[in-house]
Parts: sequence; C-alpha cells; structure tokens
Amino acid sequence: MIFSYKEPSTLEEAVSLMREAAEKKQKAVYLAGGTDLFPLLKRNVFDVDTVINLKSIQGLDGITEDEDWVYIGAMTLLHDVSRSPKVKKWAPAVYAASDKVASPGIRNMGSIGGNLLQTARCPFYNQSNDFRRGVEPCYARGGHVCHKDDKSQKCIRIIMSDMIPPLIASDAEVHLLGPDCERTVKLASLYKPSSFAALTKKGEILTKIMIPKKSVEHRECYERMAARKTIDYPAANAGIALDLDANQKTCLSARVVIGSVAPGPFVCEKTEKLLEGKELDTALIESAAETAENEIAQYAAESLEFPTWYRLEMVRKMVRDILTAFKADEYTMEFTNPPLAENEKGA
Ligand SMILES: Cc1cc2nc3c(=O)[nH]c(=O)nc-3n(C[C@H](O)[C@H](O)[C@H](O)COP(=O)(O)OP(=O)(O)OC[C@H]3O[C@@H](n4cnc5c(N)ncnc54)[C@H](O)[C@@H]3O)c2cc1C
Ligand code: SF4
Repeated sequence: MIFSYKEPSTLEEAVSLMREAAEKKQKAVYLAGGTDLFPLLKRNVFDVDTVINLKSIQGLDGITEDEDWVYIGAMTLLHDVSRSPKVKKWAPAVYAASDKVASPGIRNMGSIGGNLLQTARCPFYNQSNDFRRGVEPCYARGGHVCHKDDKSQKCIRIIMSDMIPPLIASDAEVHLLGPDCERTVKLASLYKPSSFAALTKKGEILTKIMIPKKSVEHRECYERMAARKTIDYPAANAGIALDLDANQKTCLSARVVIGSVAPGPFVCEKTEKLLEGKELDTALIESAAETAENEIAQYAAESLEFPTWYRLEMVRKMVRDILTAFKADEYTMEFTNPPLAENEKGA
C-alpha cells in the first residue's frame, strides 16, 4: 500500500487535488477519521494513488442551528453527535442512533460523514489478502460467483450504517461539493435499496448534513438488532418518524426507513401511505408492520449471521414496537443516551 498523502486547508484545494488525480487517470480518496478507509487500504481490498485528508479544512465540523434547521458538519465526530443537546432536542432518533455505532473508541475517531459514506460490508469482501487468496474471486473482485448467496447474479453486500435510516426518516438534506458541481439534496436520494454504494458524484465532498426542525407533534425513533449488544454492525435497523395532528392521535405524515437488510436503505412508501391520515390503533400498527416486512422482502440480501426470514421478522417487530411506543407516547423512554456529565457541555 503506497500512496501520496495530501492535507489541503480549503475545500477548493481538496476538490482541485481530486480533479488533478482524475486528469492523471489516478484514483484519489478523501479521508475523514479513517476507521472505515484504513482497514480496507491495509488489507489491499483496493488501491489508491492519493489520500486527501479533510481534517485541516476549517468549518467541516461542529453542530449549529438557526430557526429552521440543525446543521451537522460532515467531519463532526459521532461521539459529539451522541452528546449534542441540539441533536437530542430536534432529532432524537439520530441522537439515539449515534450512541449505538460501534464503540466509544470508533465514535471518537469516526465522523458522521464517513458513516454515511462507509463501504458496504460482506464477510467475503472486507477481508485480508490471505483470506481472499483462499477463495475464488466473487463478483466484487471480477469473478462470476457470490459466496454469500450462490443464487445471486450480482454483488449484494450491504451498507450497515446506524445513522442513515434515522437521518432519512428525519428528512435530512446534505450539501455536496465536487470538482464540477455543488448541490444540496435529500439524503434519501443518495441511496437505492438495490445498490450497496452511495450515489455521490465523482470527487464530491460531503460538507454538512441539515436536519429540518419539527413541530411538537412530531415523533421519531430508532431501533436496531445485532448479534451482540456492543461493537456490532446492525443486521437490521429502523428509523421511523411521524407527524401527528394537534390531538396527537392521527398520523398526518410518516417516514419508515429500514437499513441493513437490503444492499442500500429502503424507504417503505406503501407503509407510509397506509399510516397517513389514520389514527394509530393496534390493527393499523399490525398492518403497517406487515406491510413494511412485505415491501422490503423483494430487496432483502443474505447475511451470514441471521437468516433472511428472521431479519424480516425483526423488521416487522421493530416497526410494531416503535409505532406502539408512539401510540402510548413512550417513545423517548428506551432510547435516551447516557446523561451528559457535569464537565461535558456538548454543542
Ligand atoms: C470495528 C468497527 C465497528 C463498526 N460498527 C459500526 C456500527 O455498528 N454501526 C455503524 O453505523 N458503523 C459502524 N462502523 C463504521 C464506522 O461508523 C465508520 O467506520 C465511521 O463512521 C467512518 O467514519 P470515518 O470518519 O472514520 O470515515 P473514513 O474511514 O475516513 O471514510 C469512510 C469513507 O467515506 C469517505 N468520506 C469520509 N468523509 C467524507 C466526506 N466528508 N466527503 C466525501 N467522502 C468522505 C471516505 O473516502 C471513505 O470512502 C464500524 C467500524 C469499525 C471499524
Ligand atoms: S456479496 Fe457476494 S459478490 Fe459481493 S462481496 Fe460478498 S460474496 Fe462477493
């Protein structure tokens, strides 16, 4: 693994380094905390010519707000998101999810931007040279087989991010700056359930995440399942948000987003439509949970830890549990991060 290392001090410098690499037909990558990128480079999963570290660029981290939005810089550490009173107040599901990522060590190195753009995972892909030498190359390495699912005609590795589902559910937008464009788009538009790679354009830097502030009748929640309680990627996770009417009974609009089951996150549009305009009762909740399970089933990809049928059942359970908690207005109880210590202020 030999590459040249650059540490630009402005965004313009960073994108022009990316442009230069493209002109020389070389591969360059941006670096944030390196928790996802460096293990892959060390294992030679892929090679790069240049690593462009974003850490010296001012203004890419920190959490701020104005009347309508909360802004989270892409380089903000996951730890800082998990200790932020602003995020806790305006995006409780995002706040809850940030404390579930990996371990304290990784949350103190890893950024929220890196989490949204992390590599999709498969037990046959994110592995050492020696491991890979021992197995026939799969689709991901130019071969003609998928070891995870021999019936699959393509690579079905999975983006296992804790942050993506709750951020999409909270209608987050992202700002991106590339060598040839600058745009602000809905986070949801960067993913497709059938695609394990985020749909950013070549060389774009994710600069910030913007979460719209909601009314008091808004409810949102995050849940995940994993084999272990600590340091484990989710095997299925859900971010759900509802806007209720003034009586806090009828659902005016719904966002139901499931992650880690299909290659990319999945927005359950049929479930959302089913909920909209109706009062939450036990029958509606059961029907919404069943619809969510059924609509994601067509995209579900194998995971070696749990059979697909089990992860789909867990999707149904998570949707049912969250909606039931909304109905009982108990949705914050289970999902509150540890309280801030005296000396921890948080942004
Ligand atoms: C042991 C372990 C356990 C983990 N468990 C979980 C888990 O349970 N849940 C979970 O959600 N995640 C988990 N992760 C993933 C972890 O959250 C990510 O590694 C981390 O968030 C990535 O952030 P980073 O700043 O280190 O990104 P980097 O590793 O620096 O970058 C990751 C990718 O994003 C790109 N990138 C980063 N920032 C930008 C930017 N601003 N603009 C454009 N491109 C950018 C990089 O080029 C790279 O491709 C785990 C990781 C490890 C190592
Ligand atoms: S999902 Fe299949 S093709 Fe993709 S990396 Fe894993 S084994 Fe290879």
